[in-house]
Amino acid sequence: MATVNDHYLKLKAGYLFPEIARRVNVFTDANPDAKIIRLGIGDVTEPLPEACRTAMIHAVEEMGDRTTFKGYGPEQGYAWLREKIATHDFQSRGCDIDASEIFVSDGSKCDTGNILDIFGNNNIIAVTDPVYPVYVDTNVMIGRTKGMNEKGEYEGLVYLPITAENNFTASIPSEKVDLIYLCFPNNPTGSVATKEHLQAWVDYARANGSIIFFDAAYEAYITDASIPHSIYEIEGARECAIEFRSFSKNAGFTGTRCALTVVPKTLTAKASDGSDVELWKLWNRRQSTKFNGVPYIVQRGAEAVYSEEGQAQIKALVSFYLENAKIICEKLKAAGLSVYGGINAPYVWVKTPNGLSSWDFFDKLLHTTNVVGTPGSGFGAAGEGYFRISAFNSRENVNEAMKRMSHLMSV
Ligand SMILES: *Cc1c(COP(=O)(O)O)cnc(C)c1O
Repeated sequence: MATVNDHYLKLKAGYLFPEIARRVNVFTDANPDAKIIRLGIGDVTEPLPEACRTAMIHAVEEMGDRTTFKGYGPEQGYAWLREKIATHDFQSRGCDIDASEIFVSDGSKCDTGNILDIFGNNNIIAVTDPVYPVYVDTNVMIGRTKGMNEKGEYEGLVYLPITAENNFTASIPSEKVDLIYLCFPNNPTGSVATKEHLQAWVDYARANGSIIFFDAAYEAYITDASIPHSIYEIEGARECAIEFRSFSKNAGFTGTRCALTVVPKTLTAKASDGSDVELWKLWNRRQSTKFNGVPYIVQRGAEAVYSEEGQAQIKALVSFYLENAKIICEKLKAAGLSVYGGINAPYVWVKTPNGLSSWDFFDKLLHTTNVVGTPGSGFGAAGEGYFRISAFNSRENVNEAMKRMSHLMSV
């Protein structure tokens, strides 16, 4: 008799976004004329930069000629792309990262889940609360947790609250944890981590033999020059951190798919016999076996991000979303709400007014303004009483949503 991976049965079956869709559907069935504006899901809305499209069109043509046709590429990504990433994203910021330490992939979502393949089952794992749900669910799937308690937390994970009290950055735990997920600029709160804060994490990780998983998917949104873009700007990070980056949010590749993971060759963890094992070797083995690389065409598109035109075009794209975020922050502040984030990130984290729960505010907003956001409680227990508004939308929709919301608050 075939059996299933029982750990999947512990998952709260895709709760957040299906529940949002269900409530929106009930509302639109009853109010078919309502003009819904969705500021909920974290997907980009603006088209791919021209430099990327031009490069991909050229690459398609190369695929049509047997002298330039490409079959399987290197599982780790083409050297020309890895070199550009190493130079532009890391070495230019003083990070000692070599092209050979960069693994090109089809997404950070996949990589943040897949990375668990190379770690033992007995690690103590810490996540922030609220958190990008992928980190939690992939740990549940692979059997690193027990069931869920009444607070919606999985036993076996260490939850580090990120709240207004700690500027939405995780405080260093008093207990010992082995693997720590940090995401800055943060999804969902839009907060950033200072150099001092990340140094404290790196020092903690080195003192405890822990590994930091640093998700820098939103680094392009950093506007404050003092905020690090990479964990490798922090002294000692080559000894304790893996970094995830993506072309999804800076270049609009959410549907095109290209990302990268950095595994420094200096990074080790313990085997059960007590010996030190290089994580680079294990990740390289894992990728070579379970992954066959990102399409040549897509890697050429990603490479174009680093051209002069590409850089100008992604800057314009990011600025466009940041301007949306600024409008959202200003209008909601003017309406009397407490807002966080939105300055170095495309997300605005709003305190719900009058002590409303996240879902009550969701319903109120949907019913009175036809605007859809994301309840903070969907990202973790400490997100209760907060609400995420995404800046990924057209200017027209953002302006219209803010007009409706300022009206809502004044009545
Ligand atoms: C959008 C996002 C990513 C990017 O994921 P891809 O699979 O590369 O599209 C990674 N981490 C977080 C927290 C995100 O919000």
